[in-house]
Amino acid sequence: MLLALSSCRSVPTAPPEPSLPIRHSSVRQQLVFYSDFPLAKNHRLVDELTAQREQLSEKLALPTTDEPIHVFLFRSPESFDDFIRRHHPDFPSRRAFFVESDTQLAVFAHWGDRVAEDLRHEVAHGYLHAAISGLPLWLDEGLAEYFETPPSAAGLHRQHVAELLEQIDNEDWRPDIARLETLTSVAEMTQLDYAEAWAWVYWLLETDDARRDVMHGYLEQLRTEASNAPLSLSLRQRHYQPNETLREFILSLRE
Ligand SMILES: [Zn+2]
Repeated sequence: MLLALSSCRSVPTAPPEPSLPIRHSSVRQQLVFYSDFPLAKNHRLVDELTAQREQLSEKLALPTTDEPIHVFLFRSPESFDDFIRRHHPDFPSRRAFFVESDTQLAVFAHWGDRVAEDLRHEVAHGYLHAAISGLPLWLDEGLAEYFETPPSAAGLHRQHVAELLEQIDNEDWRPDIARLETLTSVAEMTQLDYAEAWAWVYWLLETDDARRDVMHGYLEQLRTEASNAPLSLSLRQRHYQPNETLREFILSLRE
């Protein structure tokens, strides 16, 4: 499955230079686009990514920020792969990356069939990292999976729903938020982990005002207090049985 491949994480790195696709560039609010092909300034995807700034801010009750997010777009998968191999040889083979260095938030992708989904995912990481430092890995990825869905899906990730239902049917799979919270590296995350991380985010944001308040409160705590308390603690303090409730919710999505 490819969704997990559009992955990303803070990686300390020197800013890459020589073969970046910088022939063309344009600025849209917080986003600075660079490409080795002409990209229409009002391309629908550019509009969508620009609008994601407000959508993410409203959905997560986070203030918008002004830190630039640099989006480098390669015309071909070959030029993208060459660049990544040269500048980030330790990266696994993926279609797109988000990289946070000491000086820059940057997204790298190539203009292929899945570029819309890839950019919605990676640019969401950019907006999130500009607003919050110390976001737990699983939540960072779960939120990016939520925001990678097309606007018409309103966060509902049908491939993840199908995968989770299959796992429940065939493996009697059960969610375990505490296990997700122990993950510290994207390399450890399976496609099922991405699906579960998405499910927690969707359940918290879309099913109940009190749950949405838990998410908003947790993000605000991360943003203002640099707290590293786990989200599962906030859920337990509210007497939820979160793992059981999430499983029931996933089953309810079968229809
Ligand atoms: Zn990601």
